Amino acid sequence: MSSKLPLRDALTPRLLCVESDQRYRDVIQADSPAEVFAVFDETRYQGLVSAKQAALFPGRIFADLVVLRQARPLDEETDLETAIARLQEVKDDFLPVQDKAGGFLGAVSRASLFAALSAAEHRLNEERASLIQRLEVELENRRIATAVFDATSEGIMVTDAQTHIILVNRAFSATTGYALDEVIGKTPHLLASGHHDRDFYTAMWHTIQDTGGWSGEIWNRRKNGETYPEWLHINAIRDDSGKITHYVGVFSDISQHKEVQKRLHDLAYHDALTHLPNRQLFYDRLEQTIAHARREQGGFTLLVLDLDRFKVINDTQGHGFGDRLLTEAARRLQNLVRASDTVARWGGDEFTLILHETTEDWEAAVAARKIVHAFQAPLHVDGQDVHLSASVGITRFPLDGENAEALVSHADAAMYAAKKEGGGRYSFFSPELNRRLTERLRVENALRTSLAAPPGEGGLHLAWQPQVRLADGAIIGVEVLARWRHPELGDIPPARFIPVAEESGLIMELGRWVLEEAARHAMRLCGRIEPGRFRISVNVSPRQMGHETMEDLVSIIERQGLRAECVELEITESALMSEKHSAEDALRKLGAQGVHFAVDDFGTGYSNLAYLKRFAVHRLKIDQAFVRDMVEDEADRQIVTAIVSMGHALGLKVIAEGVETEAQRRLLLELGCDEGQGFLFARPMPFDAFAALLAQPPTPSPHAD
Ligand code: C2E
Ligand code: CA
Ligand code: CA
Repeated sequence: MSSKLPLRDALTPRLLCVESDQRYRDVIQADSPAEVFAVFDETRYQGLVSAKQAALFPGRIFADLVVLRQARPLDEETDLETAIARLQEVKDDFLPVQDKAGGFLGAVSRASLFAALSAAEHRLNEERASLIQRLEVELENRRIATAVFDATSEGIMVTDAQTHIILVNRAFSATTGYALDEVIGKTPHLLASGHHDRDFYTAMWHTIQDTGGWSGEIWNRRKNGETYPEWLHINAIRDDSGKITHYVGVFSDISQHKEVQKRLHDLAYHDALTHLPNRQLFYDRLEQTIAHARREQGGFTLLVLDLDRFKVINDTQGHGFGDRLLTEAARRLQNLVRASDTVARWGGDEFTLILHETTEDWEAAVAARKIVHAFQAPLHVDGQDVHLSASVGITRFPLDGENAEALVSHADAAMYAAKKEGGGRYSFFSPELNRRLTERLRVENALRTSLAAPPGEGGLHLAWQPQVRLADGAIIGVEVLARWRHPELGDIPPARFIPVAEESGLIMELGRWVLEEAARHAMRLCGRIEPGRFRISVNVSPRQMGHETMEDLVSIIERQGLRAECVELEITESALMSEKHSAEDALRKLGAQGVHFAVDDFGTGYSNLAYLKRFAVHRLKIDQAFVRDMVEDEADRQIVTAIVSMGHALGLKVIAEGVETEAQRRLLLELGCDEGQGFLFARPMPFDAFAALLAQPPTPSPHAD
């Protein structure tokens, strides 16, 4: 600070400029006491004469008083320290000061330097004092601000332009759990809950930059890990030049508010008795579900359920009892559906359900049946068992209605139809579908019963259809076909029960049964079954092709004492193609154990040749559709020709199925087809008939059945 003081400010004010030929006595003036005299000869500076020195010789002219070896003047730029050092050095009281051009400026003395320093210091002190005063005022203001800052219930956070936190208030700490010293210097990211993605924050900061502020709901995380919603308002603070200097965030914790809101919502949208969504909320959800299904081009199911006999019970047992019964019914209903499904109380003893993403008709039927069954068990109320049943009406979106009203009223109509038939059942809105599904379900139930029945009592049995060498008619194999004569429903063709078995999953059990039964019977053909010369072909459904079941098949065969080499599995082309790798592995393992594969219905699928090599297929079975018309239809004949030559090129045997006429047999033989199966040779027959046929010596043109 001292070195910055210019020497000009330190010049002694009590300097008198005199001519060199003047005498002290002539110039002395009482009212302007000089300390020092600067002596000039004309305009040239000669030297300094102190007042003390001049006073000693009052009669002398100043020229005589100027000593010969005058001290070199100080440059006006000289700093204070140097000036003082020079004064001490010259052992004089004064030193002249000159300007840059060498002109005389004045003189400095220790006293003048000190005075200047003191003056400077004083000035500085004064400045500091006023600064402190100003600061105090500011601090005071700030204290007031801080008091407000801390008293407010809103959380406040101030950051610098780089979003580093510089100040937070008490409410901030109360809400977030962080004290000021824990957050200072950190960024608000510290509070991020993970509820919002990067895009959310990017958009928020964009808005702040563009508009100067942002407000909205945001989820943050407290120090204890809990997340909470807050209403946040952020302001960017700019200086006069428009540059952002600070951000101020003001927020309020709205979790309690939300809680209250939620409770209000719950009250408004839920049934007070069962706590299920009420009609209003159900409609909302239904509209949402419809919108979603439209977007995704999906479907869903709507059920209307009515408790049968409820009115009677309510009237006889009292309303309190009725209420508890409804509560129990609601609980049971909720336990029957997925958590994501919606169960609502429509009013009275009527409930509505949305089953999401049920696209198959049978899925809807299965769900409805489950509910109807569950309500056949009694409900426990006040220590009593109450028997009532439920009637369910089913509508599917978009099939049975395109909007909420239509879906509900149609489901209602379906429910009344179920009630009219005696209750304790369900009904689809569409009568045609209703009939089909009821029928399907009857077949499924009957099949389940038949599979569980003791051997021979369920009506399931096998038909055996020989496969012959076209050239000489020798029987080289047999296809085993499932047959079902139900005790009440009569003969049911495989085309009807196989698809039902596949859809219901019963195909696993049925497939196992067929293979077991086939292997057991085949053992009775002992001696005739020579590996490589005769095979038993069994159909395998694509649904059976899970890894486990396929491996199971070999153990089933071998448990009956039959060798795996004697068995061929007929698999459709599409099944081979579409199944996952696990099935591929299983097929390869089965192949390694000696099991053969035939591709059934060949020509109707994808006709991709790669899989023929991959799965060690042994035989192609030309679909009967091509055989049927091949004599008349040129195109079919060409397809058969192509399949035969392709099969042979791959080293496979080719068999034609559905051979019914001699003309077909001759043509197939001509085209090079190896084997045939069909009514021309034999119809599917009981095992004993087949065993007898096999026992006969081969004839050139065999006919059977
Ligand atoms: P598929 O595997 O193509 O079986 C051949 C079908 O053609 C059999 O019908 C058979 O009776 C019939 N057929 C045989 N020769 C002739 C003929 O000369 N002319 C005509 N028009 N038809 C003939 P079926 O027994 O009714 O079986 C129908 C389908 O049911 C089978 O077709 C097969 O896909 C399935 N299936 C039958 N049994 C089983 C089984 O045990 N398991 C599995 N997964 N499916 C089976
Ligand atoms: Ca077959
Ligand atoms: Ca076939």
